[in-house]
Amino acid sequence: MKIDQTKIPQATAKRLPLYYRFLENLSASGKQRVSSTELSEAVKVDSATIRRDFSYFGALGKKGYGYNVNYLLSFFRKTLDQDEQTKVVLVGVGNLGTAFLHYNFSKNNNTRIVMAFDVDDHKIGEEVGGVTVHHLGDLEKVIDPEVTVAILTVPQVAAQKIADQLVAAGIQGILNFTPARLDVPETVRVHHIDLSVELQALVYFLKHYPV
Ligand code: ATP
Repeated sequence: MKIDQTKIPQATAKRLPLYYRFLENLSASGKQRVSSTELSEAVKVDSATIRRDFSYFGALGKKGYGYNVNYLLSFFRKTLDQDEQTKVVLVGVGNLGTAFLHYNFSKNNNTRIVMAFDVDDHKIGEEVGGVTVHHLGDLEKVIDPEVTVAILTVPQVAAQKIADQLVAAGIQGILNFTPARLDVPETVRVHHIDLSVELQALVYFLKHYPV
C-alpha cells in the first residue's frame, strides 16, 4: 500500500518512534502479534488513539487477532527512515551533552551523533563516546553535508547565536535542550525539551489531576 505521508497528522507522526521502539522489542522477543490494549498499556497512549493512528497507514487490526508486528515494523522502518541512519551533530559538550554522546552507541539507535562542537579549549580535539569534539568556529568547514539535525546542549545565553550558525550551516532541525526560545526561519523546525518545565508540569498534574 502506498502511503501519502503528508496525510499523517503531526501528533500521530510524533508517536511513531514510541510505537516503533516497543514493537522492535516485541519482535526481538519473538511475538508476532499485538493488541491495541497491550500496546496502549506499554506506551501509555489510549487504545482508541492507537487504532486511529494505525488506520492512517492502513493497519487495521483484526478483532481477536490484533496487529501483525512485522507488518507494523516494516511500515515504521520506511516511514521513520529507520533503514538509513540519520546523522546528527551536538553542540555543547557539558554534562548533558556528554551523557548524550555516551548514549549514542546504544542498540536500536538509528540516529547517530557523528560530531560534536564546543568552544572550551580543553574539550576541542577530545573524543567523547567515540565522537570528536570540534571548535564551533569550524562548524561550516568541518560539518558533514549530510547532517541536517542538531542537538543543542549549551548555556541559554549562547543558544540563539549558535542556532543562527547552525541554520547558516544548513541544519534543518534543532532539538533544543536550553530554556531559550529560538528564533529561526520558517523552514527550520525546532523541538524544545525543557526538563525543568516538563518536571514542573508533571508535579502540577500529579497534584491537581491525580490518576
Ligand atoms: P560543564 O560541566 O562542562 O561546565 P555544564 O553541563 O555545567 O557544563 P553549561 O555550562 O551549560 O553546562 O555548558 C555546556 C557546554 O556548552 C560546555 O561544554 C560549554 O563549554 C559549552 N558552551 C558554552 N558556550 C558555548 C558556545 N558559545 N558555543 C559552544 N559551546 C558552548
